[in-house]
Amino acid sequence: MAKVLIIGAGGVGQVTAHKCAQNPDVFSEIVLASRTESRCRQIAGQIDRPIKTAQVDASDKDQLVALMEREKPELVIHVALPYQDLTIMDACLETGVHYLDTANYEPPEHATYSYSWQWAYHDRFRERGLMALLGSGFDPGVTSVFTAYARKHHFDRIEELDIIDCNAGDHGKPFATNFNPEINIREVTQKGRYYKDGRWVETDPLAVSDEFDFPDGIGPRKIYLMYHEELESLVRHMPEIRQARFWMTFSDNYLKHLEILQNVGMTRIDPVKYQGVEIIPLQFLKAVLPDPASLGPDTHGKTCIGCLVQGTKGDERRKYYVYNICDHQQAYREVKSQAVSYTTGVPAMIGAKLMLTGAWRGAGVFNLEQLDPDPFMEALNKHGLPWHETFL
Ligand code: NDP
Repeated sequence: MAKVLIIGAGGVGQVTAHKCAQNPDVFSEIVLASRTESRCRQIAGQIDRPIKTAQVDASDKDQLVALMEREKPELVIHVALPYQDLTIMDACLETGVHYLDTANYEPPEHATYSYSWQWAYHDRFRERGLMALLGSGFDPGVTSVFTAYARKHHFDRIEELDIIDCNAGDHGKPFATNFNPEINIREVTQKGRYYKDGRWVETDPLAVSDEFDFPDGIGPRKIYLMYHEELESLVRHMPEIRQARFWMTFSDNYLKHLEILQNVGMTRIDPVKYQGVEIIPLQFLKAVLPDPASLGPDTHGKTCIGCLVQGTKGDERRKYYVYNICDHQQAYREVKSQAVSYTTGVPAMIGAKLMLTGAWRGAGVFNLEQLDPDPFMEALNKHGLPWHETFL
């Protein structure tokens, strides 16, 4: 029985609050705090258990410390934006609170992705006897656990890893992103990068593509090579991996709009003077695009995210695929959110549950693949994200 503080009341925060509320034996008290408290109250109103709400600017450590000292949570689940990772970790260290997030730190002024800033907190968390769990969403998160599970049960040695993320859903809008538009567009427009034989190979954005035949009636789709943060931690923690790549599907419509937005400068993250005021074009674009949390009622179809793993077990060469299928409408019926928020909020709750029940315990900063995958895999089946495995 523990008190949890959820920070961020967007699409993912909504699912996380619902799923924690469904598990009162673990999450006995829930506080939901965000920059806009009215959004927290709106989410609390959907849930038939008392959820306390609060206003906080998570980029301000003093505000965070005051909130944590007032509420005294055992754990913070950070599902606001990656820009706030370090201030929230600092506030956790100061107040003695465990920490969990779903996305690695990004400096707002550069679209740069690395765990190095957060890994640098390891000794401070260890000395304080606190645990920080990094990237407990789907990708990173479940994909990290899938890889650890493959390594534990099916392989002596993983040589090649392909993480493949397909959103085969349709929200009916001309252009919308299914999680925070600013973070999504920063991620998709960066250079591609994959790991091969001990070094990183860079590609132009979305320049490398392939086709993958997805299960459960989704069928063949074009997939694009991108950089994704779990590649960095997986090759660090499983140094035997020779090649690690991340792929994502995009509709032609999404790519067409993105190309035009890029061409006209709307995805820039450097400040531009407009009528005497400095604005960041991508932040302005976010303000006019649909809110991902509003896409739930109209999104139909499924997501399919999984890991294709190749390597050896004894003398045998193996090719193994482990994946989850999540239906947008089913997610909406349960928690009033589409599947992309659902597939992130459920693993955030599961990571928190394993920390609070002691199934996952440690002092320091951890990525999910460093911990025993079995209780997490069991919890996925129980809490709405069942997985399937097959040898190809
Ligand atoms: P949204 O934009 O829907 O929500 C973000 C929330 O954070 C909003 O409620 C926003 O408040 C709040 N927020 C922003 N800045 C601050 C601040 N300074 N202080 C307090 N609250 C703040 O994003 P999503 O819910 O779609 O995504 C949330 C996180 O989940 C992101 O970090 C994203 O990268 C991550 N993610 C991870 C995935 C994974 O699989 N690992 C997949 C998808 C997302 P306001 O309403 O005032 O703007």
